[in-house]
Amino acid sequence: MANDKFVSQIADIEEDFPRWYTDVVVKTKLVDYGPVKGTMVIRPYGYAIWENIQREIDARFKKAGVENAYFPLLIPMSFMTKEAEHVEGFAPEVAVVTHAGGAKLEEPLVIRPTSETIIGHMMGKWVESWRDLPLRMNQWCNVMRWEKTTRPFLRTSEFLWQEGHSVYATGEEAEAETQDMLHLYEEFAKNVLCMPVLVGRKTEKEKFAGAVATYGMEAMMHDGKSLQAGTTHYMGQNFAKAFGVQFTDKDGALKYGYTMSYGVSTRLIGALIMTHGDQRGLILPPPVAPVQVVIVPIAQKKEGVLEACNALCEALKGEGVRAKVDDSDNSPGWKFNEWEMKGVPVRIELGPRDIEGGKMLLFRRDTCEKCEAALGDTACVKALLNSISRDLYGRAKARMDERIVGANTLGELLDGVNGGNFVRAGWCGERACEDKVKEFAQATARVLDETNDMPVCVCCGKRAKHTVFFARAY
Ligand code: ZN
Repeated sequence: MANDKFVSQIADIEEDFPRWYTDVVVKTKLVDYGPVKGTMVIRPYGYAIWENIQREIDARFKKAGVENAYFPLLIPMSFMTKEAEHVEGFAPEVAVVTHAGGAKLEEPLVIRPTSETIIGHMMGKWVESWRDLPLRMNQWCNVMRWEKTTRPFLRTSEFLWQEGHSVYATGEEAEAETQDMLHLYEEFAKNVLCMPVLVGRKTEKEKFAGAVATYGMEAMMHDGKSLQAGTTHYMGQNFAKAFGVQFTDKDGALKYGYTMSYGVSTRLIGALIMTHGDQRGLILPPPVAPVQVVIVPIAQKKEGVLEACNALCEALKGEGVRAKVDDSDNSPGWKFNEWEMKGVPVRIELGPRDIEGGKMLLFRRDTCEKCEAALGDTACVKALLNSISRDLYGRAKARMDERIVGANTLGELLDGVNGGNFVRAGWCGERACEDKVKEFAQATARVLDETNDMPVCVCCGKRAKHTVFFARAY
């Protein structure tokens, strides 16, 4: 089989999933390792996926009325210490600049691990009256968090993300946006990444440093582990008080605002790879695939073949499809393997006999099935791309639903996560029990389930306050 050579270059997805992942991201040229340990270089093929993710999310933010801005990379050290929980949470991860311009700085500068502090400071300056509220901004930027163990896209010291920050006059409004943005992410995950997620509130232990409440969306990866794919945070007045974000209300009284923030990062690329990929490599969801349709000419030196391929490509582009003709000197078999590994959703094979018969051969990457269509039938190709998106989501959703199991005891919980499942279990709300679950099963509370129906704590057997989705996580 022509594929064997390529398959053998990628570790077995069932036997060594972590190795499969690093093989795939490197061999498909999404990413490479940077010279500084823990950094990554996002290569053009990977960056093109990020640009598609950005475009989709940015359009949703703009529709919701959020404006983009840009804040500095460097934050005075003194800002970090203004919110006590925040500094404690981020202190182990921050990189600090102590020297610049050949001299020691009077005050060390933190490279932003997130921008609540500097944006809080600026909000304090810009907000004066109730008329200035709400103030809703987003920035697309890089952040730095010094991590001990790193993996491309999943955990690197520097990564790209968006961070949205809003300040409102009331807590209800800020809380409402915390929920709205969580659901915006959920809809994006479903319709753009074709990835089902669980959304819900995080426990105190798992919440953002300085937040009143954190909400997360969690996705199930191929190996049954969870990946936190996005978070939203309600800060109450914690940051407003630390940074003096005050306004004169309609009644003339001076009040503190209520803030919230939300973010997703290049982690989403890791998430979609580990949700959809198979032994041959990537399977990219059509909405984010840099190339949605690759056209492979058969006997491309024969008269009329390349012309027909190029005409088809132009017709597809005209319909808004990201199409490409691979007219390189490699054999068709080599091209098939290469583009399958790179996860291109649809391949069209076109040779002299097809052209003569007025047909083209379509191959869909997700199921590896082939079908014929009339040459130049762009509507058929677009319909196929839509079916692939729908089916990718459907399969991932069915897998996640199948692999959510209940547990009443720690033993059952351990069996559940060992079997690659998310485990729904009752929890009394005590930190000690959450810690015990972690120690016993290496599983953490991912999000709370609104359907709060488990009667007893999986750990201590007391009455449960919450139902929790427990899982091992990336
Ligand atoms: Zn308990």
